Amino acid sequence: MTEKLIFELSGEGKRGYTLPKSDLPTQFPEELLPPEVLREYPPELPEVSEVEVVRHFVNLSGLNYHIDKGLYPLGSCTMKYNPKIGERLAILPGFSDLHPYQPECTVQGALKLMYNLEGMLCQITGMDRITLQPAAGAQGELIGLLMIRAYHTKRGNPREKVIIPDSAHGTNPASTYLAGYQAVEVRSNSQGLVDLDELKKLVDEDVSALMLTNPNTLGLFESQIMEIADIVHQAGALLYMDGANMNALLGITRPGDMGFDLVHLNLHKTFSTPHGGGGPGSGPVGVKEELVEFLPLPTIEKGEDGYKFNYDRSHSIGKVQGFYGNFGVMVKAYIYLRMLGAQGLRKVSEGAITNANYLMKNLKDLYYLPYDRFCQHEFVLSGSRQKAKGVRTLDIAKRLLDYGFHPPTVYFPLIVPEALMIEPTETEPKEALDGFIAAMRRIAQESEENPDLVRSAPHTTPVSRLDERKATKDLDVRWKG
Ligand SMILES: *Cc1c(COP(=O)(O)O)cnc(C)c1O
Repeated sequence: MTEKLIFELSGEGKRGYTLPKSDLPTQFPEELLPPEVLREYPPELPEVSEVEVVRHFVNLSGLNYHIDKGLYPLGSCTMKYNPKIGERLAILPGFSDLHPYQPECTVQGALKLMYNLEGMLCQITGMDRITLQPAAGAQGELIGLLMIRAYHTKRGNPREKVIIPDSAHGTNPASTYLAGYQAVEVRSNSQGLVDLDELKKLVDEDVSALMLTNPNTLGLFESQIMEIADIVHQAGALLYMDGANMNALLGITRPGDMGFDLVHLNLHKTFSTPHGGGGPGSGPVGVKEELVEFLPLPTIEKGEDGYKFNYDRSHSIGKVQGFYGNFGVMVKAYIYLRMLGAQGLRKVSEGAITNANYLMKNLKDLYYLPYDRFCQHEFVLSGSRQKAKGVRTLDIAKRLLDYGFHPPTVYFPLIVPEALMIEPTETEPKEALDGFIAAMRRIAQESEENPDLVRSAPHTTPVSRLDERKATKDLDVRWKG
């Protein structure tokens, strides 16, 4: 890595701006501020010129892989297309300078946006009401489960267990535990779907809900969903959908029509907020009528004299978030939905499904495909054939970096050994998909002919193979200047 730290570029007196000389009298901080708030030493900030700052960050951005550089087929995480216009509009001062303590009458536009966003998401999911407050999918899960608990408690017994398929995302059992429930695993059958006989054995009066991802984390549509809903509902339990994979269903089918009682969405996966860098997220939760009374406070209502926060809900699970959630993410989702409309949304999902199936068909002769069926927006290969030659899935992922691609998700879902979970963005052109296919096919060939080359990858990145043990155990990022 040749790029220096910005502190190393610093030199006393260097400036990144030129201002005309001020014709006002100079005032020093000591004259304006009480002594106890003054610093003893000036802050140690780097002093650099404009070209140095710009070059520094342009060079850094090139060292990292990002969605503006190339294909990012990260399964489960859904690196969807996020139109740049969303960023431009979300920072308009009318949105970004709002203060959460402003009186309602001065933020009518923001409330209207949230109210209308809720309405559109209700249409998309087939739910009756939605809370926009959760800050992530995982928080949405927890809030959904707390509503499930409130629902059963009101009927006399909160119940004890939540059933979760063995292919589920790790947040599902974690949220279940946090909500005070015990997670019970239901096995997938040989087709990668919920095993109905197993499910029937597990469902009883102690089960509060089944948490299901549809399409599931193998990228397969749970086609027996109506039967599953019947089994769950007959025992008085509720059906929760982890909607992180909603980008396969938009405008095609709706959780509400499949018998789900509640669903969370990931606006930062499905509705146009970039993620993966730890930025703000949003995990709205939609509910059917029977759960509306438990929604967190406040809800947004439209009255005769405008939009209002409503705190008057006696069975609500209460306040779950500082203020009203991540508003900027909602703005981007709103813009995206208005831009695409119903037809456009359907095309998003069709694009995701088409791209995934195209990759799957062109790779399954060289990589083992454990569930060989029409997939949704993603699919899971196994590196087991390559492993027999001494090349692990991790090596394949690293070698992809040499060919200029971000690797897919690896070693998840847990039920596929040496898993490679591939999810191409719906907007990828055929040329980009063909490039990825060519790289994957070449790596399969290299694994046969020159396994050491793959095992020692990456060779062309700024940093080669990391010592992962050291990176987690002895990480030291302090600057020793
Ligand atoms: C991403 C994801 C989650 C968790 O969402 P976060 O916003 O990361 O908390 C849950 N379930 C599935 C299937 C996911 O892909």
